[in-house]
Amino acid sequence: MTLAEVLEKLSNACGIAGREEEVRSLMKKFLKPYVDEVKEDKLGNVIGIKKGKKNAPKVMLAAHMDEIGLLVKTVSKEGFIQFAKIGGIDDRILLAQNVIVYTEKGPLHGIIGSKPPHIQKEDERKKILTYDELFIDIGAENQEETRKMGVKIGDPIGFDVKFFKIGKNIVAGKAFDDRVGCAAMIEAVKRLKNAECTIYAVGTVQEEVGLRGATTAAFGIYPDIGIALDVTIAGDMPGVKEAEAPIKMRKGPSLTVADYGLITHPKVLRLLVDAAEECKIPYQLETGLPGSTDAARISLTREGVPCGVISIPTRYIHSPSSLLSLSDVENTIKLTVAAIQKIPKHF
Ligand SMILES: [Zn+2]
Repeated sequence: MTLAEVLEKLSNACGIAGREEEVRSLMKKFLKPYVDEVKEDKLGNVIGIKKGKKNAPKVMLAAHMDEIGLLVKTVSKEGFIQFAKIGGIDDRILLAQNVIVYTEKGPLHGIIGSKPPHIQKEDERKKILTYDELFIDIGAENQEETRKMGVKIGDPIGFDVKFFKIGKNIVAGKAFDDRVGCAAMIEAVKRLKNAECTIYAVGTVQEEVGLRGATTAAFGIYPDIGIALDVTIAGDMPGVKEAEAPIKMRKGPSLTVADYGLITHPKVLRLLVDAAEECKIPYQLETGLPGSTDAARISLTREGVPCGVISIPTRYIHSPSSLLSLSDVENTIKLTVAAIQKIPKHF
């Protein structure tokens, strides 16, 4: 399978935080041919272990399997679903979206609805509808029918978006945050056939709700070095100032210098920059991001773990569809491989 095909499968799968099962089974399948062992820990993290030389450093790669989404909160007497949010979702992007409710009986299509604009009062039309004023219509006549269709409180709800290719080497789809990190990690492990380091390729759970899976996985592994593969905001679009979001699509992976939860260990940053320059891989440096990644938690494991982040510039993160360049993914993989190969000599 090509990188784009792996990304397509991962992107189309449902994996709302805490309900990563579909992504988890894909990750196990995709990692298996390239590692010595695939484990699942108690929280649901997938850990692919590729053994290196004896006493060689242990490297933990982390890419989160979960995505933002919604959960069934209540069902009204009339059969409409009210929902809770999981992860950072901007209320403004919810209205009129097509969604899928994942029930035990199978997936159900639905639409996020609201009172039609025609009958809204002037001041109602100006205001942003918050998620608790919206509802999902699955075409049920009443509460009883909704129940018969299989809907239960707590069922995950995802955006109904399918992967597609546009432009030159550009792809769009759901949950690239962080399925593209997962796809890059799989491909990197595949190319690290003869690595000296022992590699732990971890698909983490519950990143979007507080970096939870990475916390327990890192405790168990206690690596010598940790690298999170994630996405970052590509700000090359109308209305965004350079100073607000300087990272651009098609210009290579972004290396975090510091974000809200991590100051990249200087040795790791040096390793990544040196690897990029030696191999002539384009890269961008980024600092001051308000969010964080799994690396923040990995770095605070036990007595501490030097960590860094390699991010793929992605447009429209945390909205139903996002967009990225496959050339940035390819360069992220190249850089991950080059850096890991350098670790035994330079770390
Ligand atoms: Zn992410």
